[in-house]
Amino acid sequence: MFDLYPYAPPSVWMRLRPDAVAIWSDEEVKRRLSWYYMVMRDEAPARFMIAKYLEAPDPPYSLDTDELWRLHDKLAVEHRKLWMEARRGSLSLHDDFFRSKPEYSYLSVKIELAQRIVRKCHFCERRCMVNRVSGPGFCGVDAHTYVHSWFHHLGEEAPLVPSGTIFYGGCNFRCVYCQNYDISQEAPRAGSIVDARRLAQIQRELRIHGARNINHVGGDPTPNIHTILESFEYLDVNTPQLWNSNMYMTPEAMKLLADVIDIWLPDFKYGNDKCAKRLSAAPYYVEVVVRNLVIAVDNGDMIIRHLVLPGHVQCCSKPVMRLIASRLPVDRILVNIMDQYRPEYLVARYPDRWPEIARRPRASELREVYEYARSLGILFEPLS
Ligand code: SF4
Repeated sequence: MFDLYPYAPPSVWMRLRPDAVAIWSDEEVKRRLSWYYMVMRDEAPARFMIAKYLEAPDPPYSLDTDELWRLHDKLAVEHRKLWMEARRGSLSLHDDFFRSKPEYSYLSVKIELAQRIVRKCHFCERRCMVNRVSGPGFCGVDAHTYVHSWFHHLGEEAPLVPSGTIFYGGCNFRCVYCQNYDISQEAPRAGSIVDARRLAQIQRELRIHGARNINHVGGDPTPNIHTILESFEYLDVNTPQLWNSNMYMTPEAMKLLADVIDIWLPDFKYGNDKCAKRLSAAPYYVEVVVRNLVIAVDNGDMIIRHLVLPGHVQCCSKPVMRLIASRLPVDRILVNIMDQYRPEYLVARYPDRWPEIARRPRASELREVYEYARSLGILFEPLS
């Protein structure tokens, strides 16, 4: 049992979350999370490691942005081949490929592109186009990265626990029921400013003290893509990278992330744009999120979270389940249908403005979503 956790002193968390051990005896969960499982056990290089050791021919800063994207896309093809080898077990951390780090790498190309994007920010579909070096965009954070807390999270889904979770300030959504509204909305810049080196140190400490993964969350991690990518330059331990997000990234941001993330933990909240706009101020929600989920699932393992909102079974939960079943490879993903919604933040303060969500979901509503998901062949039972 202990060989599952190459770095972990498994004392406390194994008592608190015995399901985090037991889950791996479920062969179907193991199959669907097979890449994550390999990296978690250090049996395969994380995808950011492959990007870091894949040589780029030119110094990225010498190229204009179009040339840089062309180079990125060319290296993406190489990266994919190497990832496939790693999946088959024919590329390991002990191979010559990982012996010496090139001066310029695929990762350096990504970092340079991210640094350019943050100066005309379009990491997410808000596309503020502001220079965040001069000040914040809609997400409330400038070009600095603000970390509010980081710790071994024992409350995540069983395969992820203990999860080395880093909470970033700022968010590109305005969810009226946000549970983390202090860091996402009210004081996003109240956290500690961390640069890429410090962020790498944080990840290292989390991993060597037992984290199964590094869990980037917020708020939303998207505004910090530039710092996160650069932190991988300094990160010298192998660890699965987990993207815990509302998935509202632009195609450009998705390209930068797609091949450095090992496991995706997207929130899929709404089944239609009207609810997304009303409750999270997120236009074009369904189109953007489905587009990004399709890319993500082709680039790593995936656990989709769906929070059941009271009164939103017909308009959101059921359409979300239908979209999962029709647009994604349903036999490769796991879903967590979450029952823990409670009125928070603005809904708690002004319940009359959003009356249908000013209560907990009913058992009958949850049952209806579970039954519907089951009828579509969605696997949620092990995690919900
Ligand atoms: S991350 Fe999104 S919300 Fe924030 S500045 Fe960039 S485009 Fe705007």
